[in-house]
Amino acid sequence: MSFPAQILKTKFGYEEFRFNQEEIIKTIMQKRDVFVLMPTGGGKSLCYQIPALLFPGVTVVVSPLIALMKDQVDALRLNGIKAAYLNSSLTPPEVANIYEQLKNNEIKLLYISPERLLGNNQQFMVFLRELEISLFAIDEAHCISHWGHDFRPEYRMLSSLKRMFPAVPTIALTATADKLTRADILNKLQLKTPSIFVASFNRPNIRYTVEPKRKMYEQIIAYLKRHRDDSGIIYVLSRNSAEKLADKLTADGFSAKPYHAGLAGEKRRKNQELFIRDGVKIIVATIAFGMGINKSNVRFVIHADLPKNIESYYQETGRAGRDGLKSDAILYFSGGDVNKLKNFALVENNPEQTRVMLRKLSQMADLCEANACRRKAILNYFDEEADSQCGNCDICLTTREQFDGTIIAQKALSAVARLESRYGLTYVVDFLRGSKSEKIHTHHKALKTYGIGADISKEDWYRYFKDFISFNFLKQVGSEYPILMLTEKSRAVLAGTEKVSLVKAAEKIRVVLEDLPHEKPLLDYLKTVRTDLAQKENVPAYLVFSDATLLELATYLPQTLEETRKISGFGDIKLARYGKIFTEAVKYYCEKRGLASKINEKVPKRERNKK
Ligand code: ADP
Ligand code: ZN
Repeated sequence: MSFPAQILKTKFGYEEFRFNQEEIIKTIMQKRDVFVLMPTGGGKSLCYQIPALLFPGVTVVVSPLIALMKDQVDALRLNGIKAAYLNSSLTPPEVANIYEQLKNNEIKLLYISPERLLGNNQQFMVFLRELEISLFAIDEAHCISHWGHDFRPEYRMLSSLKRMFPAVPTIALTATADKLTRADILNKLQLKTPSIFVASFNRPNIRYTVEPKRKMYEQIIAYLKRHRDDSGIIYVLSRNSAEKLADKLTADGFSAKPYHAGLAGEKRRKNQELFIRDGVKIIVATIAFGMGINKSNVRFVIHADLPKNIESYYQETGRAGRDGLKSDAILYFSGGDVNKLKNFALVENNPEQTRVMLRKLSQMADLCEANACRRKAILNYFDEEADSQCGNCDICLTTREQFDGTIIAQKALSAVARLESRYGLTYVVDFLRGSKSEKIHTHHKALKTYGIGADISKEDWYRYFKDFISFNFLKQVGSEYPILMLTEKSRAVLAGTEKVSLVKAAEKIRVVLEDLPHEKPLLDYLKTVRTDLAQKENVPAYLVFSDATLLELATYLPQTLEETRKISGFGDIKLARYGKIFTEAVKYYCEKRGLASKINEKVPKRERNKK
């Protein structure tokens, strides 16, 4: 075993490296600068944590978020690694203590905010010069670029690091950066001929689903009922809806709390903490929630309102399934949301920026409306190739049956012709369905085409019209109140010389991805053991062990400490600390039911995937 691989198992308990982790680590060990673009949950932290353990001195990790620092440091300490953080939440004696430990070279990883590192006349820099610095790791590196979506002025100070410590290698990491931002990061940080690693943005364990936004509350409830044990985030657009939805869910017996920027700081922190520690299952939040949430067992992310762009959608859904287990991303889509968001896209006195925002919004809407694989759409958006079928999104999991829709199309097109191509989609559909509404002009109600489509639901009409438009049998003109107009091709359809094929209403088949066959009662019990330990250690449960680790225990049923060592997540320290209690729990369960260990069935993931 190579040295890094050994540390991976003994310190972190993992069997094998992911993606380019090993190469990244080796490059850093050669004291070269590195840039890493990897999606959330990809495993960026290990890329600098393992070098930090191999280098003689201290690794300084710059991170923008106080909450995240504490989480990371707690996680490292649970693995017996000496780590600390410096930020405004510490008392002067605590700070003095850390300075002392740094001087004695007792800390391998120091987490720090950029303003603490470089602000205040660079006092801390003077102190750092006395220490042996092995590596700088710049987390969330996109914050340095004003091209990114989360520019932080305090990150700009990092530009001077390279000048002050030219011999210390730097690793910059981010989960979101387009090409422009990427180049900007390298430039601003003055990285020296950096090695660049870009991982795939695919998150195979996340299932993307887009549902029409109708009877949404009932749909959400139905989902939550099927997932009582799971934690998840529901994103909404406004503070008000966050409050209302959280209240409603609570009244209906679900464990939910709101989170938004309008809540008092204290309350906000409390709700977030409750969620992270599994004290509440569901957080109903605005986009204010999420940056720096490391919780690995988020099983679902629901968008009750449309995100403003695909970047946000990807980032928010990406908070699900960091532990690699199956997770859901469900979005409720309505055209009305698109219109609502158009107002938010207007950037005052900046028509160019406004255009960019509007374009991004319409790309988001296209993703929802298209009859094509969602994953492919997302990956292509980020300039990444993808198969046309992913097998794990609502489109790929739905069977679609086609039928001859020529007559339906003729009805629709004649309605548009009768209305002299002067009305929008809603009006035409209401007209076709013979709506009694006063909005329909009286003289239109006298037309022969009025009501000829009453046998077809509104929902289906909207779907059919989408297809008519995308196949050019009709076009939509105008941006604010678009109207439907005939095209060249309409004539052929009306004349009966062109056939139209339509797709039957989607019959959703729920294909369940094969989970590892595991002992559910045991898994539930192991979770309670974990909760007890977490409370004792005063850390979130997922830091003790991820859900993935517990699932492996409940699957492979290790009977001895040596067998438990083979479970992903058990490094030396955690094996010594928690190995006994978990192994005994598994053993007791197996004895009562006459089950034997299946540890020999455990094969490395890579081989499993090949099968
Ligand atoms: P990121 O910072 O890229 O969002 P993290 O570094 O937090 O991701 O890693 C996500 C999760 O994956 C963590 O729980 C981490 O311990 C785990 N992980 C990282 N690398 C591996 C690996 N090689 N094998 C198993 N689990 C890993
Ligand atoms: Zn798909």
